[in-house]
Amino acid sequence: MESPRALLIRYAEIGLKGGNRPMFERALRENIKSALKAVPGLKIDNMRGRMFVRADIPAELLADRVSRVFGVASCSPAVRCGFDPTEIVALATEMALATLQSDFAGQSEIPFRVRVNRAEKRFPMRSLDLEKVIAESVLPAAGNLKVNLKHADFSIEVDIRQEGSWVFCQRIPGPGGLPVGTMGRGFCLLSGGIDSPVAAWEAMKRGIRVEFVSFYSFPHVGPQTREKIIRIATELAKWQPTTVLHIAPFAPYQEAIRRLCPEAYRTVLYRRAMQRIAGRIAGRRKGKAIITGESVGQVASQTLENMAVIQEASRLPVLRPLVTHDKQETITKARRIGTYDLSNLPAPDCCTVFQPESPIIYGKLADALEAEKAIDLDVLTYDAFKGVERIHISEES
Ligand code: ATP
Ligand code: MG
Repeated sequence: MESPRALLIRYAEIGLKGGNRPMFERALRENIKSALKAVPGLKIDNMRGRMFVRADIPAELLADRVSRVFGVASCSPAVRCGFDPTEIVALATEMALATLQSDFAGQSEIPFRVRVNRAEKRFPMRSLDLEKVIAESVLPAAGNLKVNLKHADFSIEVDIRQEGSWVFCQRIPGPGGLPVGTMGRGFCLLSGGIDSPVAAWEAMKRGIRVEFVSFYSFPHVGPQTREKIIRIATELAKWQPTTVLHIAPFAPYQEAIRRLCPEAYRTVLYRRAMQRIAGRIAGRRKGKAIITGESVGQVASQTLENMAVIQEASRLPVLRPLVTHDKQETITKARRIGTYDLSNLPAPDCCTVFQPESPIIYGKLADALEAEKAIDLDVLTYDAFKGVERIHISEES
């Protein structure tokens, strides 16, 4: 049979938002539309608690994209039909055979079940009866299935609703979370490391539209560092509708700190500088939070004491989604979201140049403030802010 041209989309958490629900549904719909913007013949229908997408391309291709839209719990390539049980049984059988051929070829005794969900109570048959009739049609036709209601590897599902009936054989998991944009905009400090891209992804997952700020210490680091950041941002851009990367010149600030401030405090002062510059960019663009890849105890600058000293330089809340992650947990996630290999590309980071021999571990705010008296914070911050290069990342770039 021809592959399904429609996708049934389920969402989870936004269903819980009571009065805000229409806003969340609108955002989800817009984000799905944006993820599918180049798709010919696109139509999106809202049904209670579900969305239904049709297009002129196979639903598996739609599913690929939709499974990167936050807010989606799962989706299923589906075929729609009417309320005639004979029609439903015939369609279910045909779809089952096609799926078995493509996804389960050569296997026998595949644990299998039929599941009918009858939201439309006017439908003439009870769910259980329809499940039986479908199973009786599919089992002999397929020959390699074995009913297992508890642990099925293969399920045929029928959703009967007011608008029509849907038949599907797959549930493809989505990323969950909340639609990007529903929680406003945040600015992620993006380095070439493994952590900050994962932190950005986690923030997006909670509905934050993430813009990136990367500090670029040219000429102490070269264009390959810039290229690497652009590649990481481009990979992350697949998870939200639009992505902006701000590249801030950082060498003058770093040089001033190196020249005029106590060596042990360098890293903490760089981090405070980053907060100020990012805060300035965020202030211009309705940013409500700064996001970093810090995690407690990972390196000297990430003790609770130093984090507090760093936080103090920010007027916005600093979100640290990885704060309690082990490195291995972060690596596993980085692999899953596709940034791990990019993060491992060789390119120096701005903070590894001029790194102190023995950085302060339990920094004190009073000492940091004292150290900063030696440099002109306003001018350095303003110059970096003025020198920002803004790049609009499109997924194709
Ligand atoms: P990552 O793997 O994300 O680089 P890390 O473990 O190497 O993190 P640090 O290098 O101490 O930790 O950086 C802590 C955080 O500071 C990073 O997660 C990132 O959010 C921010 N950061 C560090 N360097 C830069 C940079 N050059 N540009 C922007 N943000 C940076
Ligand atoms: Mg780093």
